[in-house]
Amino acid sequence: MIDYLTFVEAGLRVETVWGIRAVGVEHRGNGSTLLLTTTAGEVQTRNVVCATGAAAHPRVPKWASGLTVPGVVLHSSDYLYPRQIPTSDVLIVGGGNSGVQLAREFSASHRVTLAVRTPRRLRPTAGYTAAAGESVSWLSRERRAEPVFGDSYEQLRRDGVTLRPAVTSAAGTTVSFSDSSQAQPGSVILATGYLPGDGWLPDAARKDTSRRTLTGMPGLFVAGMPQYGGRGADTIAGVWRDATTIAHHIIHRP
Ligand SMILES: Cc1cc2nc3c(=O)[nH]c(=O)nc-3n(C[C@H](O)[C@H](O)[C@H](O)COP(=O)(O)OP(=O)(O)OC[C@H]3O[C@@H](n4cnc5c(N)ncnc54)[C@H](O)[C@@H]3O)c2cc1C
Repeated sequence: MIDYLTFVEAGLRVETVWGIRAVGVEHRGNGSTLLLTTTAGEVQTRNVVCATGAAAHPRVPKWASGLTVPGVVLHSSDYLYPRQIPTSDVLIVGGGNSGVQLAREFSASHRVTLAVRTPRRLRPTAGYTAAAGESVSWLSRERRAEPVFGDSYEQLRRDGVTLRPAVTSAAGTTVSFSDSSQAQPGSVILATGYLPGDGWLPDAARKDTSRRTLTGMPGLFVAGMPQYGGRGADTIAGVWRDATTIAHHIIHRP
């Protein structure tokens, strides 16, 4: 990946500046100029592309702050290897791709409980790019969560993983599930997903996100976030559509 990015940098002849955060963007005056504010100062420019990531911050449920367990409580983004979990059992919260992969990994060494709020469909790993991301059913217009790739819940159950519904609250050592059952896990991994890195954009930018990559602020575009783009925009193979759309908008901007 580093080689690829270095190759792109050289090919486009762009100068990358590191360690600087964008903290705000606003429209100045009557023209088409935007003012980008960064931790290194301000920049006036006609176009700004926000590519600060669809999975920028771990999403940690509020109830997790009330939890004290004998082992550890950590978000999946902090998980590196099984020895981080000192207890013989682990509760994995979240039945998406991270949760399912963690349940598979721990099923060999720990007693595993997987709490699933929204059951996902299983899709073959080979179909990753095409199938990734939220989809909308043609028949009902209902939004459907991203499928899971690799293992189904049934396969995990057959291999000894206990499935439970969503965690609704936690107090001390006890976790409560939506079917009113309770458990006292040794350790907990929160595979509860991520929040996008668009917190630095003004409210005006969020007003019109109905068309791919466009925002409510002319000249400000967003790449790589499905809520501004479409299905698969937050995958390595899918972000090209956002990139080409933005290039088209910038070239043709009056
Ligand atoms: C657990 C997990 C597994 C994944 N697995 C896959 C996979 O198997 N296949 C796949 O295609 N995709 C996968 N993805 C998605 C993949 O990570 C994204 O497609 C890819 O990283 C998106 O690249 P990006 O440049 O849009 O965002 P990012 O890689 O998140 O880059 C955003 C950059 O913006 C910087 N930044 C953030 N805020 C600011 C700011 N205010 N100012 C300046 N810079 C800022 C960050 O430091 C970061 O360098 C996975 C994601 C996660 C979380």
